[in-house]
Amino acid sequence: MVGQIAMPSRLNGASIFGTGRKTQLAMGYLSLLILPYAATYMLGMDNKGWYGAILALINSIAMMAFFIQFPLGSRIKAIGLFANIDWSMTRHRQVGKWLGYIFFLHPFLILAPRFFVSFDVGMTSAYELLTAPQSLTGVVAWGIMVLWILTSIFKNKLPIKYETWRFTHMLGFVVIATLATLHITGVGRHGQFQPMFNVLWLFLCSGSLAMVGYNYLLKPRKLKSRPFKLANIKKVSSSDWELTLEKSDDAKFDFEAGQFAWINTSGSAHGVNEHPFSIASCRENLPYLSFLIRELGDYTSKLGDLTIGQDVYVDGPYGSVSLRCCERAKGIVLIAGGAGIGPMLGMLRKLAARNDQRPIRLIYGNNQFEQMVCQDEITALEQTMSDFCQQLVCAQATEQPGVYQGFIDRVSIQQNLESHEIEDWCFYLCGPQPMVNAVCGHLKGLQVRDKHVNFEQLSF
Ligand SMILES: Cc1cc2nc3c(=O)[nH]c(=O)nc-3n(C[C@H](O)[C@H](O)[C@H](O)COP(=O)(O)OP(=O)(O)OC[C@H]3O[C@@H](n4cnc5c(N)ncnc54)[C@H](O)[C@@H]3O)c2cc1C
Repeated sequence: MVGQIAMPSRLNGASIFGTGRKTQLAMGYLSLLILPYAATYMLGMDNKGWYGAILALINSIAMMAFFIQFPLGSRIKAIGLFANIDWSMTRHRQVGKWLGYIFFLHPFLILAPRFFVSFDVGMTSAYELLTAPQSLTGVVAWGIMVLWILTSIFKNKLPIKYETWRFTHMLGFVVIATLATLHITGVGRHGQFQPMFNVLWLFLCSGSLAMVGYNYLLKPRKLKSRPFKLANIKKVSSSDWELTLEKSDDAKFDFEAGQFAWINTSGSAHGVNEHPFSIASCRENLPYLSFLIRELGDYTSKLGDLTIGQDVYVDGPYGSVSLRCCERAKGIVLIAGGAGIGPMLGMLRKLAARNDQRPIRLIYGNNQFEQMVCQDEITALEQTMSDFCQQLVCAQATEQPGVYQGFIDRVSIQQNLESHEIEDWCFYLCGPQPMVNAVCGHLKGLQVRDKHVNFEQLSF
């Protein structure tokens, strides 16, 4: 039955564990958010009227959400809420927007009641607020926050490397979290009257910064103690590389086909230099682990400079896309756009290794035919697997026979489903965000239900 196929997707935010796990994560997250306000309530603090109570509620939830923002992306596997990177990066982005609005409005909301008394009273209060020495931490935190949010919104347009932006984004967090905590404990009306409330905020801030510290200082040490080796790097198309790593005997690394890992080839185990890539191999290929990487920017264009045998630090696996999602599906469609072929190939290799008898279709699109990778292997699988075939889709015209010209659209998908009943089929997609969005739309048009669609997009 369709309803029995528990299929996660990054789109609807479910996880490899199904909707139950997603609900658990959301409940854990919401409980943390409400913690400081619950403490205010239990400490019996006076919020000075309904307006003060609403502001205190909004501010304490927002501040707590801010403290969790970075731990959410910290990939700490031992703590469920901070381990599921697909779920948490979606929250990080969604919540980040709201926090931007709330913190931007914070001083205006504080001052609003004074302006209702009279404009002059409002202006005097605003002047006092801006110039009072005890407001300094808050004013500076607010200024840095505005700048920090703008650099996040326009990060792709800034003339700096992504890695530099990511590092300054983390530093900005540490500075703002520290200043905001000093502000809350210094001028916040609660802190002045309830020392226990200050202790709580100092504790929350320290916990949050400790998790960031773990990610940037302790985790690299752990990764350094169990490096992988670069076994091979070769160009496999006009724009893609295949990078193969060999796991050391003492490194514990297990994964499901379709997942991804952060790999760091810089020689320094520090997290700033790592990049996420989907694993293109399957468990049967261990101790070897392969990745298909498209040349895109400053890091991926220099892969040819790597040295065989060098240490590579691998943090993973992560990600909720895996074949576990399709255990009860009657057929499987893998749709890959460009570099999105990596996880699709990992799953295809796994399906071949376990001699899966179900109909399996691969729809693989690229701009040019020369960008298609692993064609010998995929063609061989068409002969050896029970019911597998591939459809190549090429945006630019090509002389090659059997290639669908254009983009992966509704027609190209429908043609490859033949006359199968797809109600109980499972769809996987991976590629750049615009491709994933477009294909999700085509699948909707084909009446494929959201819960049957699992995707990984190549950016957070
Ligand atoms: C879950 C996931 C799986 C991915 N799997 C693959 C894959 O199998 N094959 C593949 O070719 N690409 C994959 N990518 C994309 C890959 O990570 C980026 O293309 C690569 O990091 C670009 O680095 P660059 O310095 O060459 O390019 P840049 O021009 O510096 O970056 C281009 C974009 O890549 C992203 N990016 C860059 N550096 C990082 C970083 N350190 N951490 C996170 N994102 C970064 C940013 O969105 C940036 O805007 C994946 C991305 C994600 C999020």
